[in-house]
Amino acid sequence: MFYSSTRGDNNKVSSAEAIIKGLAPDKGLFTPDNIPILSAEEKTFIKTTSYKEVAKLIFSKFLTDFSDKDISTCVDSAYNNFDVAPLHQLDEQAQILELWHGPTCAFKDVALQILPYFLTTAMSITGEKNDIAILVATSGDTGKAALEGFKDVAGTKIIVLYPSEGVSAVQKQQMVTQEGDNVSVISINGNFDDAQTAAKNIFTDNVLNATLLAKGIKLSSANSINWGRLLPQIVYYIKSSIDLDESTIDYVVPTGNFGNILAAYFAKQMGAPIGKLICASNSNNVLTDFIKTGIYDRRREFFKTLSPSMDILISSNLERLLFELSGHDAPLISQLMADLEELEVYTIPDDLKNKLDDLFYPSCADDLQTKHAIKDCYDKFGYLLDTHTAVAYDAYQKYTKEHDSKKIVIVSTASPYKFPIGVGDALGLDITKNEYDILKDLENLTHIAIPKPLVDLESKEVLHSISCRKEEILQAVTELL
Ligand SMILES: *Cc1c(COP(=O)(O)O)cnc(C)c1O
Repeated sequence: MFYSSTRGDNNKVSSAEAIIKGLAPDKGLFTPDNIPILSAEEKTFIKTTSYKEVAKLIFSKFLTDFSDKDISTCVDSAYNNFDVAPLHQLDEQAQILELWHGPTCAFKDVALQILPYFLTTAMSITGEKNDIAILVATSGDTGKAALEGFKDVAGTKIIVLYPSEGVSAVQKQQMVTQEGDNVSVISINGNFDDAQTAAKNIFTDNVLNATLLAKGIKLSSANSINWGRLLPQIVYYIKSSIDLDESTIDYVVPTGNFGNILAAYFAKQMGAPIGKLICASNSNNVLTDFIKTGIYDRRREFFKTLSPSMDILISSNLERLLFELSGHDAPLISQLMADLEELEVYTIPDDLKNKLDDLFYPSCADDLQTKHAIKDCYDKFGYLLDTHTAVAYDAYQKYTKEHDSKKIVIVSTASPYKFPIGVGDALGLDITKNEYDILKDLENLTHIAIPKPLVDLESKEVLHSISCRKEEILQAVTELL
């Protein structure tokens, strides 16, 4: 299996190279040249075997330059101490896919616990002699999950850029207390899009890359622009849909950078029994408008919401979807992305719009609706949603009011205890207290235990305090390396 850039760089790369590079030299995203289809025998195997064995099967189809033994080692090492994707049944119709039982309590762990193993394996396959410096832009959850995954991994360094005002106190404390000899954390005065744009510019800065290479350092990405981030997410869609075993199951995905829902699209194309993909956004509803109209227009106000990990106006992975829907039409994608950069808006052709309509249903919820969703789900089912999953729950209610849906899976992306202010407010707690006290009040109210990694977080020592303006990111990163 080879991978090509969505923007038509003619050099095809192996999966190991795609994972090491992260982003293609022309700023496009590496995408597999074809999508493998699951056979009937494989589907039977998937239904009757463990999550880890399914992961090995799926990875072997995409990472064709990795040996079976390599893949086994990656999976067994990464997924040895948490339940990756358990389903929780709400009622006859709806299930919650809980993806946040990893070490940082967000779904990003599913991919970021295994990415360092993919990367170090890829480095030994290609004979990479340089160190890899991972540069990560985060809206909160990726940063911590990447730090946890890469801490003290030999041959790697990791630098995380987070927006100073854009993350919850719990998220920030998780990052600034990160231990490990190879980790750096920088707060920037900007939003996630500023951080992501700066990171993409650094990846493609030829002068900087040459200087670093002379020092034996190569840059790579742990954001979902890296194929190695997306691939692990395909597995839980395949496993959960085949386990539930209906003709088709609809999925509601709380969406920001479009990585998670794109993994659902790949799973569907591989033959998993997946119906509609319901794309749930918060007030930053650029994707809702895009799916409705075919016009991607980022010229709009940026809102800080109760679901900060979805506060994004440039959804990078949409580029991969458009590449797929257009039959790998790289010139078209290059033009659309150039329009986005120069005009901040683009319009897709009608044939792509029609395909989009068949696959996706758009929905959005503001903060008030998000809090109503948390209260509704808790009152009805005694089940506590985090603010991001609540946006999906709102979309589930809206979708099922208007459409027949036999079975529907609500993808749950974080523990409610990562976002105590929004969740506490929804349940009528006093949110003028500090976040850690709200955490305890929430536990006392619901008798749902605070996850282990978040207990004692408050008293941990702060180890990182670098901050810079968004114009200074390049300089700060250069100095660190
Ligand atoms: C990252 C994140 C999302 C958005 O996922 P994308 O793959 O960026 O669309 C949703 N919820 C939570 C809790 C997240 O951390």
